[in-house]
Amino acid sequence: MNRAICPGTFDPVTNGHLDIIERSAGLFDEVIVAVALNPEKRGGPLFSLEERESFLRDATAHLPNVTVQSFDGLLIQLADELGAHVIVKGLRAVSDFESEFQQAQLNHRLDTKVETMFIMAIPEYTYLSSSAVREIAALGGDVSGMVPASVVDALAKRLKLAR
Ligand code: ADP
Repeated sequence: MNRAICPGTFDPVTNGHLDIIERSAGLFDEVIVAVALNPEKRGGPLFSLEERESFLRDATAHLPNVTVQSFDGLLIQLADELGAHVIVKGLRAVSDFESEFQQAQLNHRLDTKVETMFIMAIPEYTYLSSSAVREIAALGGDVSGMVPASVVDALAKRLKLAR
């Protein structure tokens, strides 16, 4: 069984994340989307862990070999617990490379049996990040086409409450 993990904060999930998850689902028998609790993010995440998981479950419901779960701790430990030998990350630009390269090397140092593999973002999504989506939505911009419809609605509700 070829099992891979797609980790991230997904605050919230974007169509760029979903593209990487779908392409991973075509390459591996099983893909586990691992949602990091990520409490150290400044100000805390906009959406709770449960909300972030729920958006991902809805958006990946059509992919039978994809499951979603949360984690809080070392990614390499999760890989070990799940018997996953591959971590899949998306690369948008050279600016992603430095930190991803460092993380991949650290993870390799912790466990040489787990490989990090990179999938290149498609040009339409190269500019897309969760933080950009949060910023545009907060300023009243239209984020449809960048995130699933359920997330567009949730962002509008959340940011209206916050104003
Ligand atoms: P973000 O950087 O958007 O806050 P996450 O920490 O949730 O994202 O990212 C999870 C993974 O998804 C990372 O490997 C990241 O490089 C990748 N990723 C994020 N946005 C995109 C995108 N638009 N296209 C491809 N991969 C992406």
